Amino acid sequence: MSDIDLKSIYANLEGKDNQLKPKERMTIPQMDMPAQDPVLRSKNQKEVALGYTEEMAIIEASRCLQCKNAPCIKGCPVGINIPGFLDAAAKGNFQESVDIIKEASLLPAICGRVCPQETQCMEFCTVGKTLKDPMKSVAIGRVERYVADLERETNSIKIPAIKESTGNKVAIIGSGPAGLAAAADLRQDGHEVVVFEAFHKPGGVMIYGIPEFRLPKAIVEKEIDTLKEMGVKFEMNFLVGRTRTIADLIEKDNFDAVFIGSGAGLPKFMNIPGENLVGVFSANEYLTRSNLMKAYDKENVDTPIYQSKKVAVLGGGNVAMDAARMALRLGAEEVNVIYRRTRNEMPARVEEIEHAMEEGIKFHFLTNPIRILGDDNARVNAIECLKYELGEPDDSGRRRPLPISGSEFIMEMDTVIPALGNGSNPLIKQTTQDLETTKWGNIVVNENNKSSMDRVYAGGDIVLGAATVILAMGEGRTAAKAITDDLKNR
Ligand SMILES: Cc1cc2nc3c(=O)[nH]c(=O)nc-3n(C[C@H](O)[C@H](O)[C@H](O)COP(=O)(O)OP(=O)(O)OC[C@H]3O[C@@H](n4cnc5c(N)ncnc54)[C@H](O)[C@@H]3O)c2cc1C
Ligand code: SF4
Repeated sequence: MSDIDLKSIYANLEGKDNQLKPKERMTIPQMDMPAQDPVLRSKNQKEVALGYTEEMAIIEASRCLQCKNAPCIKGCPVGINIPGFLDAAAKGNFQESVDIIKEASLLPAICGRVCPQETQCMEFCTVGKTLKDPMKSVAIGRVERYVADLERETNSIKIPAIKESTGNKVAIIGSGPAGLAAAADLRQDGHEVVVFEAFHKPGGVMIYGIPEFRLPKAIVEKEIDTLKEMGVKFEMNFLVGRTRTIADLIEKDNFDAVFIGSGAGLPKFMNIPGENLVGVFSANEYLTRSNLMKAYDKENVDTPIYQSKKVAVLGGGNVAMDAARMALRLGAEEVNVIYRRTRNEMPARVEEIEHAMEEGIKFHFLTNPIRILGDDNARVNAIECLKYELGEPDDSGRRRPLPISGSEFIMEMDTVIPALGNGSNPLIKQTTQDLETTKWGNIVVNENNKSSMDRVYAGGDIVLGAATVILAMGEGRTAAKAITDDLKNR
């Protein structure tokens, strides 16, 4: 969209205080998200999406029809008052807008960036339904991001009030979105809160998994600083199950309740020959080395990372897109995503796939590796793949990929990154006998996120399996409320 178009659309809205007819709103085009040039960004770690300007945020928010039944809210896992915050933004009342979001969601600058809105709020939006495309719905997350960034950049983040001390102590295991959301609510309720984190930095996947070019670390760090200012304590390099067990926390350290938000950090592999060769990394390991341990900053850190030329990333989800785009930024000459279905079945967000394609990543659909080959030094030098075709839909509703016999072929590679999803780490279960888990190791909880053990709650990926930031946050908040109710009645 040209500057002139934008200015004339904006001029049309001025002075109307968001009092527009639905017809007028429907003629406003969706505001594109400005982004770094693909060639430049594929060589740096800076954020790809640059964010709306004030004018763009007001124009986009003015597209909201202010539907009485607000179907978008049903699509939001934490029930944000979406028409409310869009109305305030359309009127230029940005602080009011972010305050409305924060009634339901603690981390809007993060969720505005990484929530899969097109399958949540945007999927239900009347504008998208009318235009028969959820991608053309009101760009709810982009406006959310704008108002949250403005609040942070103008140092207007308010420290929430803390209720009078209850004298209770709550332990939080894991500092991902589930743990942070639980910690914030529990602290506001007046409890002493200590977060125990295995890594040396708090933030969970938001710090060690999602790359800087999608979610700048400074944003996550700012949210954590706010929790610290509220009086939440953080104990780093503390592995529950080894440093202390859950029983120790309750019986020896006198914690009145425990929330487990330990995530799903155990990578899955394909179990094909060659996965133990040098040059095979799980996406988790690859991204942790790159993000948390800053392997990209070669001049200032000495984190070892493989210098790749030809990389194969196996899988089609967000994690695969992140690993592929990171490999490109770390200097690989060619990055290939190998996926056994087609683009239509890829679970990654549409925007992430488009960004990866723009950056020059090659996609091989209906293809799957059957073995990884190595040289005499046990280093990866190729993968053997099989071609697939799509059959009938399977239990997930997606068409089942069927191998085409005799279609084997070899592709030269020096690095292979399986990105096939994550399971739960068994450590806490193994050291907490009474904790009920599913056969996949996920903790079983009731509707209040209480586990099978007295005083022990759980939420986020450790309960849901690999899910999303907003769902993890929602679970942390449900558990926090239940813990406060439980402790009141003791
Ligand atoms: C690469 C990648 C990209 C993703 N992209 C998106 C996205 O774009 N949008 C989206 O919504 N979701 C995305 N997700 C999923 C999302 O990040 C997770 O669903 C979410 O972070 C889960 O939150 P959590 O708090 O349950 O766990 P986590 O974020 O995994 O945090 C758990 C924390 O617990 C710590 N821990 C584990 N065990 C112990 C222990 N025994 N003792 C102490 N600490 C422990 C871990 O070190 C970790 O810091 C992505 C995930 C990955 C891996
Ligand atoms: S469904 Fe779309 S148009 Fe309607 S209130 Fe929600 S965001 Fe606005």
